[in-house]
Amino acid sequence: MTPKIDVRGEPFRLASRTRRVRAALLCVSLLLLLVPARAQDNNTMNTLAERYVRLVLAVGQHDADYVDAYYGPAEWRTEAEAQKLPLAEIASRASALAQAMGAAKPPVTADQMTQLRYEYLARQLDAVRARVSMLTGTKLRFDEESKALYDAVAPTHTEADFAKVLAKLETMLPGRGALVDRYDEFRRSFIIPKDRLDPVFKAAIDACRSRTLRHIMLPPGESFIVEYVTGKSWSGYNWYQGNYRSLIQVNTDLPIYVDRAIDLACHEGYPGHHVYNVLLEKNLLRDRGWIEFSVYPLFSPQSLIAEGTANYGIEVAFPRAERLEFERRVLFPAAQLKSEMAARYYQVLDLVEQLSYAGNEAARRYINGEIDAKGAADWLEKYGMYSRPRAEQRVRFIDQYRSYVINYNLGKDLVAGYIESQGTDRWGAFARLISSPRLPSALTVDARR
Ligand SMILES: [Zn+2]
Repeated sequence: MTPKIDVRGEPFRLASRTRRVRAALLCVSLLLLLVPARAQDNNTMNTLAERYVRLVLAVGQHDADYVDAYYGPAEWRTEAEAQKLPLAEIASRASALAQAMGAAKPPVTADQMTQLRYEYLARQLDAVRARVSMLTGTKLRFDEESKALYDAVAPTHTEADFAKVLAKLETMLPGRGALVDRYDEFRRSFIIPKDRLDPVFKAAIDACRSRTLRHIMLPPGESFIVEYVTGKSWSGYNWYQGNYRSLIQVNTDLPIYVDRAIDLACHEGYPGHHVYNVLLEKNLLRDRGWIEFSVYPLFSPQSLIAEGTANYGIEVAFPRAERLEFERRVLFPAAQLKSEMAARYYQVLDLVEQLSYAGNEAARRYINGEIDAKGAADWLEKYGMYSRPRAEQRVRFIDQYRSYVINYNLGKDLVAGYIESQGTDRWGAFARLISSPRLPSALTVDARR
């Protein structure tokens, strides 16, 4: 944040009356020069931003998953639906907008938020163009796609990279049969009974919310509702509705383990997606009038920041020791599970978490055509510890969302690196990150400064 300049500082108090008057006149005339220029720049950006929003809505007519949230003027959406612009027309309008953006680059003297706004909008527009190109048949390889859509490329791993963690899991879960089956068997003791789901989630949400509110001020009236659904490729989803409200859906197709309570409550709610969207709406859309934040195109760099902060937010709200204590004291009893098993459960989960990049590898090989759906599910089972039904659900997710998978683990790692480089006030850095437009590629650049 830029410190406020104290205009009542020492030099002014020592100055003579004439010098003060002269200085004041100079300030006024400088302001007269600056204000119209700033207002004009802002108008130009607002006009470009409106064109971007309309393009995103137009793409949404061709791709049902594309517009994740929209709470701008209702007539823009109605117009997009009525017009149903062909993809070729959207592509040509997007290219014209990119040219206009090129001519509107702010001067290097512009303030940081103006620069961030510009860079962000330009990059989001690039992602719109990439998605349109994909919808018209362009085939990208996994890394090309993630770079084009999410402004990031996940590191590559081989089977050998997961061997050490798998060996540790073998020691922790000895026995016969495949390791994934033993892990599945072990986890069975940590399923939340269906009739306990709601009280367990409520307890987790209350805790995540109160921890978040101690550090982040949220506008009055913010709230969300939780719904239980089936037949989805994801396990949870936040549908932001605007007006500081979210609809959070939890998929109950497969058994839900006790660790998902805090994960989902923090990731989808506080301080994750719900808080992220509320702060964007409050700080950028309402306070600054930046209309581009009224729309959220799912296949764009914004998603890496959204998923990365939502995942890292779990640890910010619940550092490991505090989480374990809360699980033992509140959630395990609420789910009628044995509290004394909590520590061992989390030891095992920590190891499995270290296999998360195996999921990217399965997706990369599958999208690149090196393995088929069965091969991808086999990979997830063997190296990612996904039980067969979960592996198959994950392959359906990859079919639907493709390289989006990197936003969760790489997103978390990039966000963690950035926030930890900002000093010891994790909550402060977290709140600033989700209140400003930042690009994934800028997280590593800024973190190195
Ligand atoms: Zn998410």
